[in-house]
Amino acid sequence: MFYSHKLFGQEMALTLLQRALTGEHVAHAYLFSGREGVGKKLLAQQFAQSLNCEKGVSFSECSCESCRKIREDIHPDVKWIGLDEELRSIKIEDIRLLQSWVALRPFEGRKKVVIINGAERLTIEAANAFLKTLEEPPGNTHIVLLIEHVFRLPDTVLSRLVEIRLLPLPFERLCTILNSEFHITEGTRYLAYQAQGSIGLALHYKEEDFLTIRNTVIDSFLKQDLIEYFFSSMPTAVSEIDTFLYIIGSVVHDMLLIKTGVDHSLLIHQDRTADVVSRAELLTREQIVQLITLFEDARQSLKQNVNTKLLLLHLAAHGDLILKKINNQKQTANALRYAM
Ligand SMILES: [Zn+2]
Repeated sequence: MFYSHKLFGQEMALTLLQRALTGEHVAHAYLFSGREGVGKKLLAQQFAQSLNCEKGVSFSECSCESCRKIREDIHPDVKWIGLDEELRSIKIEDIRLLQSWVALRPFEGRKKVVIINGAERLTIEAANAFLKTLEEPPGNTHIVLLIEHVFRLPDTVLSRLVEIRLLPLPFERLCTILNSEFHITEGTRYLAYQAQGSIGLALHYKEEDFLTIRNTVIDSFLKQDLIEYFFSSMPTAVSEIDTFLYIIGSVVHDMLLIKTGVDHSLLIHQDRTADVVSRAELLTREQIVQLITLFEDARQSLKQNVNTKLLLLHLAAHGDLILKKINNQKQTANALRYAM
């Protein structure tokens, strides 16, 4: 259910909720917003625990029966909706069931807590049916909506919620956490770069073996002729082409940093520094900038449903034009080597 069992970097959100708990002015309906993997579900779970903890512990580890049951998702007074993220919508029937559940008194806890995961999937009918409950939930009930894209929620729903934003982690801090808490030493900076501040996504990418994909792409890009690569190993699915362009774009970005004399410890592909440096040596700064533009434009075109075959041809042709000078330089370098 969670990417990590510990919250990272959500001090602001925790402070706001903690203050509400100690001041006993907890709102009836919250909106926890933030990117995928920043900790919305975990924060909601810890909030439900804090409202019901037998020892009065809030947002800390606790072994009481109530906290354990909420952690294991078997507490009768805490209800999750929308946990199946494959389902495309949360329907009016789900809300109707929820309303009859909310109408009952807490079974064993102090508070009933409803958590709606992926609230952007509420259908218009479901959102409208939910308004009354959001407006006046029974006194012992708290509702938490989790959402990535706040703009997808109707204003009528939004205006009834207290929003708590979960912020992405700063890049260097995410790298440190991946390293010290999760003992990730290979490709740490790349995972953090790709996850853009989301600890959950970084762990997901690690688990899904994104590093192997990255290494394959880098190996092909660094060792083969670009045209050869496009026609021998290039994927055809749009998402895979996008991943390829993203990875290559980040490698070329590192090359530009190398050209500008940046400390190598700051590279995204720090663990592949030697390879990236050796390729960067064959390119001029101007060529690198041209490559960056080429790959960025290609990613933009992909979003506009462009014909992928034509896009690859365009990439190969223009990439070749840009890289032609490399071959000349290569030949010159080889000639020099032999001459010496
Ligand atoms: Zn407890």
